[in-house]
Amino acid sequence: MKYIISLDAGTTSIRAFLYDVEKRAFVHRAQQEFPSRYPFPGWVEQDAEEIYYKAAYVLSDCARVAGAENVLGVGIANQRETVVLWNAKTGEPVAPAIVWQCRRTSEFCKSIPAEAAAVIREKTGLMPDAYFSASKIRWVLDRVPEAKRLLAAHELMAGTVDSYLIYKFTGNFATDYTNASRTMLFNIRTLAWDDGLLGYFGIPREILPAAYPSDARMGEMTLGGRKVPVAGVLGDQQAALFGQACLTDGDAKITYGTGLFMLFPTGEKPVASHSGLLTTVAASVGGKTTYCLEGSVFHAGSSVKWLRDEMGLISDAAESERLARSVPSSEGVVFVPAFTGLGAPYWDSEARGLIAGITRGTRKEHIVRAVLESIAYGAKDLAGCMERDSGIPLRSVKCDGGASANDFLMQFQSDVLGIPVDRPVERESTALGAAYLSAIALGAESADGIAQARKSERVFLPSKDREAFGALYENYRRAVRRALGDRQ
Ligand code: ADP
Repeated sequence: MKYIISLDAGTTSIRAFLYDVEKRAFVHRAQQEFPSRYPFPGWVEQDAEEIYYKAAYVLSDCARVAGAENVLGVGIANQRETVVLWNAKTGEPVAPAIVWQCRRTSEFCKSIPAEAAAVIREKTGLMPDAYFSASKIRWVLDRVPEAKRLLAAHELMAGTVDSYLIYKFTGNFATDYTNASRTMLFNIRTLAWDDGLLGYFGIPREILPAAYPSDARMGEMTLGGRKVPVAGVLGDQQAALFGQACLTDGDAKITYGTGLFMLFPTGEKPVASHSGLLTTVAASVGGKTTYCLEGSVFHAGSSVKWLRDEMGLISDAAESERLARSVPSSEGVVFVPAFTGLGAPYWDSEARGLIAGITRGTRKEHIVRAVLESIAYGAKDLAGCMERDSGIPLRSVKCDGGASANDFLMQFQSDVLGIPVDRPVERESTALGAAYLSAIALGAESADGIAQARKSERVFLPSKDREAFGALYENYRRAVRRALGDRQ
């Protein structure tokens, strides 16, 4: 028996999955939660050492179940953009990890002039924002005395969560291209740290890890007294794309979680977005680097949570489906989930949510249905941008995330997009992506093999009535215009 252990180092928990290479399935899993801390409004921090020892714990648990001699290797998928700075000699972090959600550097990012922003966009495919790693690293270098001391002594290391874990596990200082592509310091065309950007942010090259393809062998770690290779490292969204076997143009992945993340592969050339979407490295496997467009809707599953917790209209998320189905339509009610502004393609941080089209006959069922429909419209907005930016038509969507369990939502999504929405049996796409990649890196699987390994649980096919769904989407767009911040 041969296994891969796939580590999903997420934002709220660390999970390890034991992947049976022959069965192409997970046979065991272990999980540890860990907290974020919010010391000031908008700040989000985590304890990197806690991430490390909980990761080590869940990996050991899987190795114990498998028998370490049966473990071919370890793959890693991780929360992206979050930064750790640590002592190169002791491995001890010099400050709490600054999490991707942390807004502490947003003033700095807003002050980046337009010309510099254009250069950043051209080189990295990202927009200057506190979300990405560069300004977070700069923040630590400016404010943490121990970081300054270690920098002067050439004993400082900085990186994303993958590189910290790789360092702790193997002693090597390495990251992969997908993680590097989220730092705002990495040129996604030349696949190298960019001297101009490093200079702009005042970050010396020597404190950053070596960047390798996603299928590189990053080193060996000890598990159950044996040396096991660490190979197959990806950022979590890219891992989910790989786990969904979205390997060809026009085949996109949508994760319906708290927010909605859509990744749209565009092949071996990065496509610049004119709609404010991000261009990022999808994977680098077998000597081939592929790119994707990435877009997100801030509130998706969280709107359903809002129905439950703030509105009290449903008692659990699954009830949203029953209520939505109990009426034939939303009867003209439209929900715009602009709780914290609107992202692509509207980019209006002043926009606020609204419920439009209410009549005397409106019932909670209509509102609940409108909330689910709004999630599908948000994805339609992103799909439109991606098709326009790339010139590649969207052919199908592969879905995952908590809200993908909602059959009504998936059917409505298919109807609104006019293409099939394909839900897999195994919805742990992130962990699956790292497992697939690790298996490929270690010669135990092929790219063709993973396309066959993915099993559909259900494919939702679009209604033939394109006109009706087009009209519904137009109605939503009208409601969005009313929600925008510069409304009269
Ligand atoms: P995350 O990884 O972002 O925490 P998950 O993928 O675990 O999110 O999904 C959780 C989200 O999915 C919650 O916001 C919840 O409201 C939503 N959700 C879960 N089940 C359903 C359902 N059956 N219908 C609609 N939304 C759901």
